[in-house]
Amino acid sequence: MAKLDIASGYGPEDWGFESLQARQKFRAVPVMEKPHDYYMDEALKEARRAYEAGEVPVGCVIVHKGMVVARAHNQVEMLRDATAHAEMIAITQAGEAVGDWRLKGAVLYVTKEPCPMCAGAIVLSRLGGVIFGAGDPKAGAVVTVNDIREIENQLNSDGRLDVVTGVRENECSSLLRDFFIRKRKKKSGEVAESG
Ligand code: ZN
Repeated sequence: MAKLDIASGYGPEDWGFESLQARQKFRAVPVMEKPHDYYMDEALKEARRAYEAGEVPVGCVIVHKGMVVARAHNQVEMLRDATAHAEMIAITQAGEAVGDWRLKGAVLYVTKEPCPMCAGAIVLSRLGGVIFGAGDPKAGAVVTVNDIREIENQLNSDGRLDVVTGVRENECSSLLRDFFIRKRKKKSGEVAESG
């Protein structure tokens, strides 16, 4: 729980009016009725934190019984850990929050299509669903490059993972695009300075 407390202890959002409305809706209606967009908004907030920290901007939340039980962003650079993808951190948090490594019925929302490592972790943790924003043409292991059904067949024969793609796709992918454009510019700037 300690990790989760830290993760949810972030300050005021700069995420605008739309999300304030969504947040009010969050309090007013039964949580299970919230649309995918709402939870992807939460994942996008995490992705923006990654962006600001100079990490590849990917954010993730896990929803269990209508409650966000984990929220995380990519922290590979900060933790110097190749496994510190948003999904991996969130899965660990969710297990602590739920008190079980089996996250049956829980749904993972992530701004970018999970890579093979994370797809494996999603299957092994028995999540009920994975919902992503932007597809990943290089490493997408849910539908784009690999098929997560095959990983399910290998690792968890009774798995029946629901998959939804393209939720808030434009926002999720433009964040990634901006990040890599900025990174390239920075790199070429450094080259110019040293040359
Ligand atoms: Zn990954």
